[in-house]
Amino acid sequence: MALVVTENCINCKHTYWADVCPVEAFREGPNFLVINPDECIDCGLCEPACIVGAIMDEHAVPGQLRPSIQLNAQLGNVWPKIRAGKPPPPDAEEWDGVPGKLALLER
Ligand code: SF4
Repeated sequence: MALVVTENCINCKHTYWADVCPVEAFREGPNFLVINPDECIDCGLCEPACIVGAIMDEHAVPGQLRPSIQLNAQLGNVWPKIRAGKPPPPDAEEWDGVPGKLALLER
């Protein structure tokens, strides 16, 4: 079991939870973060730290967001680790809650 980053992270990409992860399980892409499910120890520290509510237990991910589970598994083994938080994109707040962001994912 692991936590997963769901699509509301796309173009918001807050990264401060990289500072709280004890096992450096986060991976960074151009406009999205994912969690490597093989490294996540399910401590739960990152879930409340995400201010856009993008991080969820994989068993709690609702149907329309379930493609995110596969994305975390795929991209978590491709993208580089992010070991420390950095400033978000300047327009991050404008993207919070925008529907259909999966189509905007940059790999
Ligand atoms: Fe890291 Fe814990 Fe979040 Fe897993 S649940 S990604 S181990 S902070």
